[in-house]
Amino acid sequence: MSTTIIGFPRLGEFRELKFTTEKYFRKEISEEELLAAAKELRAKHWNIVKEKGITEIPSNDFSHYDNFLDAAFLFNVVPASVQNLDLSELERYFALARGYQGEKGDVRALPMKKWFNTNYHYIVPKFEKDTQVKLAGHKIFDEFQEAKELGLNTRPVLVGPFTFLQLSDFEEGVKAEDFVDSLVAAYQEVFAKLAELGATRIQLDEAALVKDLTAEEKALFLNLCNKLLADKKGLEVLLQTYFGDVRDVYADLVNLPVDAIGLDFVEGKKTLDLVKGGFPADKTLYAGIVNGKNIWRNNYEKSLAVLEQIPAENIVLTSSCSLLHVPFTTANEEFEPAILNHFAFAVEKLEELRDLDAIRNGQGAEALAANKELFATERVGENAELRARIAGLTDADYTRLPAFAEREAIQEEAFKLPALPTTTIGSFPQTKEVRAKRLAYRKGELSQEEYDAFLAETIDEWIKWQEEVGFDVLVHGEFERNDMVEYFGQNLSGYLFSKNGWVQSYGMRGVKPPIIWGDVTRLNPITVKWSSYAQSRTDKPVKGMLTGPVTILNWSFPREDISIKDSTLQIALAIKDEVLDLEAAGVKIIQIDEAALREKLPLRRSDWYEDYLDWAIPAFRLVHSTVAPDTQIHTHMCYSEFTDIIPAIDNMDADVISFEASRSNLEILDELKAKNFQTEVGPGVYDIHSPRVPNEGEIDNTIEAILAKVPSKKVWINPDCGLKTRGIPETKESLIRLVEAAKAAREKL
Ligand code: GLN
Ligand code: ZN
Repeated sequence: MSTTIIGFPRLGEFRELKFTTEKYFRKEISEEELLAAAKELRAKHWNIVKEKGITEIPSNDFSHYDNFLDAAFLFNVVPASVQNLDLSELERYFALARGYQGEKGDVRALPMKKWFNTNYHYIVPKFEKDTQVKLAGHKIFDEFQEAKELGLNTRPVLVGPFTFLQLSDFEEGVKAEDFVDSLVAAYQEVFAKLAELGATRIQLDEAALVKDLTAEEKALFLNLCNKLLADKKGLEVLLQTYFGDVRDVYADLVNLPVDAIGLDFVEGKKTLDLVKGGFPADKTLYAGIVNGKNIWRNNYEKSLAVLEQIPAENIVLTSSCSLLHVPFTTANEEFEPAILNHFAFAVEKLEELRDLDAIRNGQGAEALAANKELFATERVGENAELRARIAGLTDADYTRLPAFAEREAIQEEAFKLPALPTTTIGSFPQTKEVRAKRLAYRKGELSQEEYDAFLAETIDEWIKWQEEVGFDVLVHGEFERNDMVEYFGQNLSGYLFSKNGWVQSYGMRGVKPPIIWGDVTRLNPITVKWSSYAQSRTDKPVKGMLTGPVTILNWSFPREDISIKDSTLQIALAIKDEVLDLEAAGVKIIQIDEAALREKLPLRRSDWYEDYLDWAIPAFRLVHSTVAPDTQIHTHMCYSEFTDIIPAIDNMDADVISFEASRSNLEILDELKAKNFQTEVGPGVYDIHSPRVPNEGEIDNTIEAILAKVPSKKVWINPDCGLKTRGIPETKESLIRLVEAAKAAREKL
């Protein structure tokens, strides 16, 4: 009997790691205290996994920031500028993750990208000409030892060499192939050292194998494997994949000298077919059967039916991906049992694995019966009126008229904005005070009048400040919102909210995705009150802020009983109603954020349009198709590369789009040019994910780079993203620089 998981959430049951790390960042606790707290947390998590009856326990799935960055430090893929900083090892690590600005130096944070099709973001290491790949870290050994001292022989988890190279950046003049030998040698050193410490197995995560692979990429993978596996230093190697199937390399995988292969039977459309074609008797199959991404209970009958078809002799049951992507436990939730019974978070998924394993071994009849009963009863009814509205949609509902070029002229006339108009993405810093007031209001300690007065006052201050600094299109600051999805969900029917359902998003930050429980409709106007209030306080245009349907869907836990497309259309209609109400209230510029549009883009290019863009882009158009020509629709995107979906973005038919660009060195500009991008565009001119204030001249250079590629009449000047996570001083300083730089550039036009 064998069960395992690919990884466990790191932040802690109550996000302890986040809070402790933030204390450390604020210098309220020492490095030793942070390290001790992390150690305690790891022990707690290992014990939970063990107590739930999981037989193989992973280690090194923990991270102080990001496990991809951990691998970069392990293998010395760290720029010399950071290596030479006169700081502690941990400080250097955080410097690379978050940027560092102090008396010891000035370091920019590495870029961050979405981890495959999840809302987790990894730090992108960069291989440079003088990168010397070698074993340079010790975290993986320390954590193995730590578990061993607790009596656990764990299976260390490490990014595999192929995925490490595939997902890293390379300075011009170097390429992945240049590092194959040194990287293989370094991995083998890791193997040897782990074996010496008493490890028997290692898990190499090769999720990059679930994408479409070119012949060169496949050759690189096989070359790495052949060299690496030629000497495993006595370790058993589990080659773990997730987020899809490995159709491009399955035939090769089964012939590799690995000891075990981990496959995803949840998201892998072809996984079952692949293994049905044969699985080698000398290898163990780690069958990812419990969904590591959703929060719904596993349907045991369905899972067992899949498992029965697998011809492998040795099967270990596991999660479909790391449980990092689900909240910690349902134990701290307050839903009534009839609801709660439908949910399984990380800890409960451990129980499901144990149950499934037991049932397969002829036990667990009770668990199976209870599970069958749960799925036999109807969970939720449908909204007939809404279903009819969706059934009645025609092509015209997805088309905005007149066409973009005509609207652009109308809007130029209507708004009379200067060249290179300046704006921000919506939110301003959510200070302690803002959060405290919201909490007090929620708890009933602050009356509606008092809370409203506070919000109005805060909005007034920021409107005035934006006018003084000279912004062209203002925002109200989003002070009333906790989160860009939760805030909307709270005003939609069919949504449920967990108390502690946090999932790690980037760094120590978590998001708490709401749960789509039933059909979605708008309960009442959501943003009209504060957007129209802000507009009433100034003669400058104020942008109304909404979250788009695709993002609301992608940042929620979706239903599994209806399609994602259908859920998205329901949300799109709700947001459409909001757009029309805003417009009617005199808000003439409306931004519909689609920060997460790319998130659910299928990992295989071949599936992009059919499985996703062909309905996601129309869903966005549905939201704004009926506004007047002189209402300007903005959208905003961040956290990922959009370079490859530029035509689809143009096809959203917004009037203006802003997107995160500064951390990826504005790579996207060439593509905008190549694809003759029509939508007006504001590529972010500075990184808001770090507290670092751009230097004098830095934004000017960025604007110059933008103007070299995009016609000036299309360009907007804005930061990368919203500013709610930033402090006030750095925000104001940065934004003043932004407006100054825009004005200077305007002069030069
Ligand atoms: N309007 C949102 C904000 O400014 C956008 C956030 C996002 O793109 N993640 O906070
Ligand atoms: Zn953003």
